[in-house]
Amino acid sequence: MQAKKEVILKGVGVSPGIALCEAQLISFRTEKAVQREIAAEEVPGEIARFEDALITTHDQIKHIQKQVAEVLGDEHASIFDAHILVVDDRTFIEDVIRTVKKDLINVEPVLQAVANRYADMLSKVEDSYLSERAADIRDVTKRIMANLAGESLDQMKKIKKPCIVVAHDLSPSDTANIDRTMVKAFVTDLGSATSHTAIMAKALEVPAVVGLHNVTAVVDSGDEILLDGARGHVYINPTPERIEEYRKRAQDQVQILQELDTLRDKPPETLDGYLVPITANIELMEELDAVGARGAKGIGLFRTEFLFLSGSSLPDEDEQAEAYSKAAQGQYPSPVVIRTLDLGADKLPSGFQAPDEMNPFLGDRAIRLCLSRPELFKTQLRAILRASAYDNVQIMYPMVSCVQEVIDANALLCECMDELDKEGIPFNKDIQIGTMIEVPSAALIADILAPHVSFFSLGTNDLIQYTMAVDRGNENVSHLYKPTHMAIIRLIDHVVKVSHEHGLWTSVCGQMAANPQLVPLLVGIGVDELSVSPSLAPMVKDVVRKLYYSDAVELAQKALVSSSAECVEELCHAMIKKIAPELLEFSE
Ligand code: PEP
Ligand code: MG
Repeated sequence: MQAKKEVILKGVGVSPGIALCEAQLISFRTEKAVQREIAAEEVPGEIARFEDALITTHDQIKHIQKQVAEVLGDEHASIFDAHILVVDDRTFIEDVIRTVKKDLINVEPVLQAVANRYADMLSKVEDSYLSERAADIRDVTKRIMANLAGESLDQMKKIKKPCIVVAHDLSPSDTANIDRTMVKAFVTDLGSATSHTAIMAKALEVPAVVGLHNVTAVVDSGDEILLDGARGHVYINPTPERIEEYRKRAQDQVQILQELDTLRDKPPETLDGYLVPITANIELMEELDAVGARGAKGIGLFRTEFLFLSGSSLPDEDEQAEAYSKAAQGQYPSPVVIRTLDLGADKLPSGFQAPDEMNPFLGDRAIRLCLSRPELFKTQLRAILRASAYDNVQIMYPMVSCVQEVIDANALLCECMDELDKEGIPFNKDIQIGTMIEVPSAALIADILAPHVSFFSLGTNDLIQYTMAVDRGNENVSHLYKPTHMAIIRLIDHVVKVSHEHGLWTSVCGQMAANPQLVPLLVGIGVDELSVSPSLAPMVKDVVRKLYYSDAVELAQKALVSSSAECVEELCHAMIKKIAPELLEFSE
């Protein structure tokens, strides 16, 4: 048989590593149902298959509804009542069964046709309640179709042989369900460098390339894929020469990383003795061991929402307190910054239906969602306070955009403290409170926020998205997403200066901190701490240790009076080329 021709694609490398394995195409989209004629005696079996799928679908929706009620309250869970009504609607069901009997064809195309007819009819009605039911019918039909095919919507859990997952898109919770022993890497059509799926890939240390636009159209399951997760190169059915070239590259990369491992116990100190603490960003409990193993000290960002995204049931106060205490104990006495829930937009518990918002990233998410659901928020605040019996625990609020949010969150925290006091449960009354600076309005009122907190943490992933009006997960506009844009570095400089004037410290926990080329710039601006994915901590430490603080300050001064992102990029590139050229192997 003739070897298949090599196809080369270029996307965004979001998690380093070179992988070579068979492709496994995962489709979360409902394909058009294939029509098959059936004999009269097959009809009862076909109807039984349909009824089974309806029961499974009903149970799945009930299960999701219960979970959502526990985390987000009954109001959000009631969205699923409409789904239950669809799956239990006898008129709809009988319509499908009647057609199967009459036309003698399998149930899938009949179901699709009947559902489309109902949905089209409803969407034309001039009544917003009824027209919204059209979307419910389409959603439920998709789920019934998946159950008819005997496939679960979370196909990730079912992968049983080593492969590279190829998907149109993966949500952070799909990614959290990856079996690392089987999934050697993944590639997707959609996505960009700071999407939460990319963050998850780094957390899991699974090489990944996203934003490939059409990889699902080009690859067939079983094709061989070679990918370089640092540079974003993907080769489908690579030539023997290509495989050989990358075998050598993989060896080089492993060697560089092994050398970086020797830095583990060395201090993150510049050549002229300036200390830049490096802490870790963690999403999963399994990452805790990697923090120290990769030479980070403490946790600068615990993205707690991932405790809610992975796993099938939702953590209650005890479970959360146990998780936070485990992190605090493991890192003691280094600090552990626990960020309160940043749920919403693309980070939704499995099966949770987002509130119908035009712009979910500007909608009811993070601190807004927590403040509007005090019972959910207080459960978490109590759990964090309980863990603060280890006095290295600190607390941080995400996506703050005005001072009232911090005042309200602190008031709820005080309520929780009073309750725990009365219950005789120990906690740290002087717990340090910080806020993320990831919305431009927060950066610009840093002086007004400062009296209410002890520290700031710059979430540059969102700060760039919201300052530049560029969706951080959208590959079509990723060329506009520029960490070195003058607006961004001016905002960072402003926040750092204001924080120091008020006796506060400022860290950077966005992806910028983990980019070796940008580390000297951030250090030179005066950032007090860098918090990065454990797997990237060795590279960041390497840069810090090869840098003169005085050079970093000079670089920052030049950058801050530059006229474009490209000029700043050039300055940063020249610096890294001078001090740590081997790290360029891991970037473009
Ligand atoms: C950020 O926005 O930079 C950040 C660290 O938060 P997240 O990536 O979880 O939105
Ligand atoms: Mg953020």
